[in-house]
Amino acid sequence: MPLFRINKKVNKLLITLYALMVVGLLSSLGVAVHQNWLLKVQSTKIELARQAGIGNFIVENAIIHASKSLSAAQKAMHTVLNGGPLSASQAHDILHSTLNEFNAYSNASYGGLLLYLDAQGQLQARTDRQTSEQLDFSDRFYFQRLQQQPDIGQTLSPLRKAATTGEWVFHVAMPIKDKQGQFRGVLAQQIQITDIANELNKYLNNGHASQLVTQSSDTGLSFVYPLHLLARTGPESLETPYADFARRSTSPQDTFTWPVSTDSHDRQALVGYAQAKQSGLLTTIHLPLSDVWWNFFLENLSLLIIAGIALILVTAIFMHLYRISRKLSEALHDAFFDALTQIPNRRAFDDMFPRLVREAMRSQKCLSVLFIDIDHFKCFNDDYGHDGGDIALRAVAQTLRQCATRPLDFVCRWGGEEFVILLPHTSEESATLIAQKVLAAVREIQLNNHGDPMRCVSVSVGIACGQVNAKQLGENLVNQADEAMKLAKRSGRDRYVVYAPAGTA
Ligand code: GH3
Ligand code: MG
Ligand code: MG
Repeated sequence: MPLFRINKKVNKLLITLYALMVVGLLSSLGVAVHQNWLLKVQSTKIELARQAGIGNFIVENAIIHASKSLSAAQKAMHTVLNGGPLSASQAHDILHSTLNEFNAYSNASYGGLLLYLDAQGQLQARTDRQTSEQLDFSDRFYFQRLQQQPDIGQTLSPLRKAATTGEWVFHVAMPIKDKQGQFRGVLAQQIQITDIANELNKYLNNGHASQLVTQSSDTGLSFVYPLHLLARTGPESLETPYADFARRSTSPQDTFTWPVSTDSHDRQALVGYAQAKQSGLLTTIHLPLSDVWWNFFLENLSLLIIAGIALILVTAIFMHLYRISRKLSEALHDAFFDALTQIPNRRAFDDMFPRLVREAMRSQKCLSVLFIDIDHFKCFNDDYGHDGGDIALRAVAQTLRQCATRPLDFVCRWGGEEFVILLPHTSEESATLIAQKVLAAVREIQLNNHGDPMRCVSVSVGIACGQVNAKQLGENLVNQADEAMKLAKRSGRDRYVVYAPAGTA
């Protein structure tokens, strides 16, 4: 195959290679990003479940601590109550010392305020100071509950703003009964949720948890994190639909993906939850998927930048290679094609002829050579000028090309006003027919130079044909065709002559 054709293949190969590299690069990037995303979702869900577990543990721990200090105070008060009536200052001292003792042993960080309410719900004592004002707590959920059902033993109140401190608090409360089993009042421990939030801050420091809510099944919401959400929306509005779903869930998984339809931009949220069967606490935490996306994008930014740079580099390298290859193609085309007639030149012939000779030797089929020379071209040039001659040369070259159309046929400009046609697998008889076709077609050419008609041209054709048994013999065919062409000239031009070895004509 001629070099210039090989080079065209190289160009196509370069484009294919580039396309494959880009497709490969983009698809491997796609797979890597997809895998990363799956890992990210999985690790986020695990993290959320862990955070829910921590939230649950910390709130539950605070309740346990409160229950212990309440039990201690309950015990101390029973003793005094059974001895007779209890004054407010006595009650204060008992609460105060019990809490101090308890805190000294337990080292609790969320001890809170211990309160004692009498059987009518009047605040009688509190641990921080002796009460002078008469506060009525009889409408409080925990008081009413324990007053009506003192056998419950302990209650957990909903979250509310404390009348005494103005802080968001919930209460763990226990009833006090005398020896006869008579209801004598309520002991309550106020737990400030800022204390729990401080504790949680130590563990939830990754900053992307959107909202952690701990609820008990009987009293509703108990705790929410972060606290500013509570100040903005109030505890009631923090009841989440997925909390109900998590509470009813029998699945061992402690995370799920939740469709969010109310929010305009967050379509889905990842939810983690933890349930404490003993205390009835459920902690849920959710994170909008858009937040996960944004974090994921930031984490993968370097990967995307590197892939983008790689793509730009690969494109630049391939464009450079392609440009070089295109220039090489053009250079090779110029080297193998005649600039005037745009048909292959003598160099292309030198490249092609040995191949066709080898092919003829292999196939043992005839190779025919037509040597064609324009008649009286010097006179034509003299009459119409060099430009007119060029027009004729171009027209003859195109005509010759149209006469030899089989895939292996080869037409070239030999030099000056001479052309050669190589006809593989062509017998003398067929070559003669082609020569006749050439003569007729050339005679038919209508020449004109920018509208000025010029006279017709004719050609003389020499034909050599034979089975090629050796390389030498193949090369001889051209000389023989040339000789036959010269004979055609001598015989009167505008004709063909078939080469016949000396002595056989
Ligand atoms: P004959 O019939 O014996 O072949 O006579 P001829 O005049 O064709 O032969 P000759 O070899 O004497 O002249 C060839 C002429 O072809 C000479 C030259 O001016 C002309 N020629 C060769 N190459 C070109 C070319 O590229 N352009 C033009 N216009 N003329 C060319
Ligand atoms: Mg000539
Ligand atoms: Mg000539």
